Amino acid sequence: MKRNVTTLILCGFLLLGYTNVHAETFTLPELPYALDALAPKISKQTMELHYGKHLQTYVNNLNTLIAGSPFETSDLEFIVKNADGAIFNNAAQLWNHALYFEQFSSAPQSQPGGELATAIDKSFGSFDNFKEQFNKAAAGLFGSGWVWLVKNEDGSLSITQESNAGNPLRSGQQVLMGCDVWEHAYYLDYQNRRNEYINAFWEILDWSVIEKRL
Ligand code: MN
Repeated sequence: MKRNVTTLILCGFLLLGYTNVHAETFTLPELPYALDALAPKISKQTMELHYGKHLQTYVNNLNTLIAGSPFETSDLEFIVKNADGAIFNNAAQLWNHALYFEQFSSAPQSQPGGELATAIDKSFGSFDNFKEQFNKAAAGLFGSGWVWLVKNEDGSLSITQESNAGNPLRSGQQVLMGCDVWEHAYYLDYQNRRNEYINAFWEILDWSVIEKRL
């Protein structure tokens, strides 16, 4: 009897070990700056809610949803490209926000340089034209979603709008920069004035991070 109990306990431990090895668990991506580093453009309070609560919820939901699903052992990019419904929504929101928060800095640069500057000039005529078109897309997106600067398969750059969790990886595009225009990104700081948030967005960008994505 004693031996049976020991075997049972051993089997339990083995099973636990097996489960842990095979379950992918996503965590909140680390911020490259302090929560108050972007203030007053994006306040600490917005960061606490947007990064600390909204993004954490996407991470938690994703971990719950993939457990026992075909995506249990998949990496994030694979899930974003292949999942649908709630798993896609939470995976894409994790991917989108990781990219979004990574591209800001308390020591921003006003314009890109190097190859990215050349590519922007080539695709949009000038940086000012690019900025104008991006702002128009961000201001004009109805409801919740994202505006992206993407690189197409032919090397050209485009601005795209996506609703909700929409992600350009699904269209085979490479993402360079993203602006979250969900109200939760700006409502505490700017209420309904999305344009003011978009103007502030340009003033906290770290172009060296964006250039590395090219
Ligand atoms: Mn958001």
